Parts: sequence; structure tokens; C-alpha cells
Amino acid sequence: MESHVLRACKDWLQIQQNLGKLWFMRVNSGTVYPTNRDGSTRHLALAPEGTGDLLVIWGEVAQVIDPTIEGDSEEIQPHILWVETKHKGKQSQAQKDFEAQVREQGCDYLIVTDVDQLINRLTPIVGPRRGE
Ligand SMILES: [Mg+2]
Repeated sequence: MESHVLRACKDWLQIQQNLGKLWFMRVNSGTVYPTNRDGSTRHLALAPEGTGDLLVIWGEVAQVIDPTIEGDSEEIQPHILWVETKHKGKQSQAQKDFEAQVREQGCDYLIVTDVDQLINRLTPIVGPRRGE
């Protein structure tokens, strides 16, 4: 089930966030209709349809050549990865459009059917697993 993949990814990301390696959030998309106390329902718009399931952000130290000072300086450059978790299904058109839009802005985008695919992508950032 896709929810199992998502759960495994969230658990792994939470550990990495607790270690200070990255920051992430779960993003819910679409529309939900919660029930009010009086039994009526209301319309609640979440993130736009097609938005990735997980947003992952981390900073990498980069050497910057600053002509106004002697030598180089360091700055943290943010990296943004959108993760779409899938069990078997294919990307919807809305998800394809979302991917194209965020890639155009320099974000990375990854479809994962297994938590190991996420771990492999982020191992260069968080370091190898213990015992590897
Ligand atoms: Mg998904």
C-alpha cells in the first residue's frame, strides 16, 4: 500500500530531522469535506492537486567567491526535494505538471515505491547507514 511507503519514508525522515540533517513536512493535497458539529460539511482546500507527498529541505555549505572581501566565504545553499510516494500507480497528469513546474524552479523531484529509494537518494546528504 502507498500508505506503508509513505509511513516508512516519514519515519526515516523524522529520524534524520531529529539528527539535524534535514527538514521535512508531509503535504496533503486535494480537497476534504470535514463535518461540522451541526452535521453540515465544509469545504477545505489543501495543497493543489498533484503536489508531492513530502517536502524535504537541507542546506549544503558552498564556497562562494565574494569579490568584496579577501578570499572565499561560505554560505548555506538550500536544496529542495519533492517526494512522491507510489505503490504501483502511475503519476497523474496533475503530478506530472507539478513535477515540471518545480523542476523549472530548480527543485529536485523523486518518485519512490520503497523507502530504500529515498534513503539512497539522501545518503550523500545524511551519511551512510550504520554498519555500511
Ligand atoms: Mg503519492
